[in-house]
Amino acid sequence: MRRSAPARAPITSPAAATVFTTVLTEGPVSRVDVARRTGLSSAAVTKAARPFIEAGYLEELASGGRTAPGAGRPANPLAIRPDREYFAGVKITGDDLIGVVTDLRADVRASARHALTGHDVDHVVRALADLVGELLDAGNLRERAHCLGVAVSGDVDRASGVVRYSPFLGWRDVPLAELLDDATGLTTTLENDVKALAVAEQWFGEGVGASSFALVTVGTGIGSALVVNGALVRGAHGVAGEIGHVPVLDGGPSCHCGGRGCVEAIASTEAILTRARLVTGEASLSMDDAVTRARGGDEPLREVFAAAGHAIGLGLAALVNLFGPERVVVSGEGVATYDLFEERIRRTFAAQAFGSAARCGLVIRPLPFEEWARGAAAVAVQSLFVSGSG
Ligand SMILES: [Zn+2]
Repeated sequence: MRRSAPARAPITSPAAATVFTTVLTEGPVSRVDVARRTGLSSAAVTKAARPFIEAGYLEELASGGRTAPGAGRPANPLAIRPDREYFAGVKITGDDLIGVVTDLRADVRASARHALTGHDVDHVVRALADLVGELLDAGNLRERAHCLGVAVSGDVDRASGVVRYSPFLGWRDVPLAELLDDATGLTTTLENDVKALAVAEQWFGEGVGASSFALVTVGTGIGSALVVNGALVRGAHGVAGEIGHVPVLDGGPSCHCGGRGCVEAIASTEAILTRARLVTGEASLSMDDAVTRARGGDEPLREVFAAAGHAIGLGLAALVNLFGPERVVVSGEGVATYDLFEERIRRTFAAQAFGSAARCGLVIRPLPFEEWARGAAAVAVQSLFVSGSG
């Protein structure tokens, strides 16, 4: 790790992290139920919960829902105190910074958006520090906020806090966490944006109660994050779940990754627009016009979107055949035009998913950009309470 979590975090053991996470995502829940769900003994749960109660992160409720300090009855539910601490989360896109402040349960208390006028590292760091400062000051939350989560697309090394490669920002090996620590005074955790969104889904969204699921995002890029047995798959070299770079068309269009025929080279927003301009012969066709005309029944344009849907369906089938998740959540800004792909995605997926793997539910869920920022805040929550996160 780049540095240890602040000493105030009451994590003392993996059991403590497990107990805290169970109450956070499933609470209020009694010690008896926590023990049953985690396989720990009732005594171990009581021991693990005590420092969190003493530090004000958890409280014990009497059976009627009233607070019952120190009663310690195993059947009394444990609950999170959401206002104990606030967390800042920011998603960096090529055009904007989207920021939120959340409580401990990742419920958004404030949000704001700043346009980026450039991708120069110093400019982005300054703009991000300004945005976070504004959000915390507006809510008078600075005193109870110590952690910042930042979500960036691309190859992000969470442990060292370095953006190794971000194609949309044109960055390589930027020690962003350290720069943001200095600029904000908060402890920063960086995460790949799709992985950050998956943390929020795993703890507070479609992933709750699923031991394995995949989140697939469709838009400027096509990405996925995989959760297996409750843990995010990170890959030995920090890369895993790159569904966008699964090759689905031999000799197909070249991809910015250096490969050919990747899902992203066929189905990203830019790839769709490039193809739409080619088939119509209109070099300045806009995406909005392509969408409107495809919806209006323009067959060649409908086929461009369908071909993108086919590529995504093949990628989803490859993903599901390889790891067999309970469900797949498909999201991202591209979902706004999902009516143009959905049928082909489902048809291709059903044709290529192997045997029972096809029983995996495909959930289509548009998530606003604020949700990505909330994912970044959830990563900050996780960094404070879960040692060796993920
Ligand atoms: Zn590629």
